[in-house]
Parts: sequence; structure tokens; C-alpha cells
Amino acid sequence: MTQRDPNLVFRSRYTLKHTDGGYQFTFYCAYCDFCYTAGWIFIDSVEEARVLAEKEARLAFNGCQCCGKWVCNDHYDMQEMMCIKCMKTVETKADSKE
Ligand SMILES: [Zn+2]
Ligand SMILES: [Zn+2]
Repeated sequence: MTQRDPNLVFRSRYTLKHTDGGYQFTFYCAYCDFCYTAGWIFIDSVEEARVLAEKEARLAFNGCQCCGKWVCNDHYDMQEMMCIKCMKTVETKADSKE
């Protein structure tokens, strides 16, 4: 189990399929093609559907505490709660401190 900041806004690339009154969102990792497809949601507006789909999808991703990107497990450092790109930046900074 990873800790997740409930206040971190979920935002990621997504694609949307829709039929009569139904919406299905697929969300993607910021760095690769890992995706999570939320179940079909039958609701009046696409905005409401997106909110519900995001609630479901955010559990499949990890939010970077540093840059706010949402990434898959492979692109996330559970210990530091940062995406691997931010980890690299931090490491580079630490190396050139003197
Ligand atoms: Zn990824
Ligand atoms: Zn990051």
C-alpha cells in the first residue's frame, strides 16, 4: 500500500468512448502507455462522468508529490513518493551540491 495525498488533483491523459448517455474513460501514465480503463458510467453530463471515472482511476496511478504528474508503478518511487523523473532531478542536484 502506498500513501496517497487525497488533495492531489488527479490529471492525466485520457481517451473517451461514449454511447447514448454512457461514458468510458481510459487514463494513461504520464510517461508510458500503461492505462487504466474505468467502467462505463451512465450519467447526464460528461463532466460528472469524468469526476467519477477519475475517482476510480486515481487508485491505479501514483501522484508525484513533486511535479503533480500521475504515473504507473514502474515510473514511481514508492519511498520518496515521486515520479522517476523528479527522482533523477533530485539526485542530480544532490550530486552537484558543492
Ligand atoms: Zn509509466
Ligand atoms: Zn514528478
